[in-house]
Amino acid sequence: PAIESKRLRIAMQKSGRLSVDSQALLSSCGLKINLREQRLIAHVENMPIDILRVRDDDIPGLVMDGVCDLGIIGENVLEEVSLQRQLDQENFDYEVLARLDFGGCRLSIAVPQEENYQGVQSLDGKTIATTYPRLLARFLKQQGVNARIVMLTGSVEVAPRAGLADAICDLVSTGATLEANGLKEAEVIYRSKAVLIQRKGLTDAGQLKLIRKLMPRIQGVMQANE
Ligand code: ATP
Ligand code: ZN
Repeated sequence: PAIESKRLRIAMQKSGRLSVDSQALLSSCGLKINLREQRLIAHVENMPIDILRVRDDDIPGLVMDGVCDLGIIGENVLEEVSLQRQLDQENFDYEVLARLDFGGCRLSIAVPQEENYQGVQSLDGKTIATTYPRLLARFLKQQGVNARIVMLTGSVEVAPRAGLADAICDLVSTGATLEANGLKEAEVIYRSKAVLIQRKGLTDAGQLKLIRKLMPRIQGVMQANE
């Protein structure tokens, strides 16, 4: 008798900007998911798949550590975690299976509206608050700018008014939040979308076959959305 495959584990955001679209994508691919219960793990009824619903920040690590087989995550978080793990000499391997058509946003540096911003050199000697210290540090280094980075995991946009920083580096989609906080976008440092990633070293034949079955469906759903 054939050896039975382990269930495929897919990590997605539990609640937030990616969760509705992630769930819709999987449903469109034919996965019957019972998400009524607010549980960490949801079993897919009609395929050997389990859905893990976690904070988005945990998804890259779960895939890179091989705890989950697939993950749906914003490139901004994926790249930030990847840079951090590289520095910490932890495993940061993964494969991108598809760039998805949701979760679009940009990571931008914003400064007070009244500031006379003259380009990146205006940031020299300034303090910038962000949730993405590694992506920001990489940008500043590339630009030859010396600025201090302050890490904040929330309410980044109020940091200048609160006197915690001169500028911020945060996610922007419409710019309304920036404006509401007296800030203006000065530099776009990273453009992001959601991606589907797979762990490296996935060898289970049954799981690989299942992924090969799902991929054309994902491409099909995205084409239908165009
Ligand atoms: P969690 O509780 O899972 O940690 P979160 O508050 O960190 O959630 P969300 O605000 O739900 O995260 O955003 C998740 C992802 O959605 C972002 O990392 C980004 O990839 C994407 N995104 C798309 N548009 C925006 C936006 N306007 N602002 C913030 N994130 C956005
Ligand atoms: Zn998060």
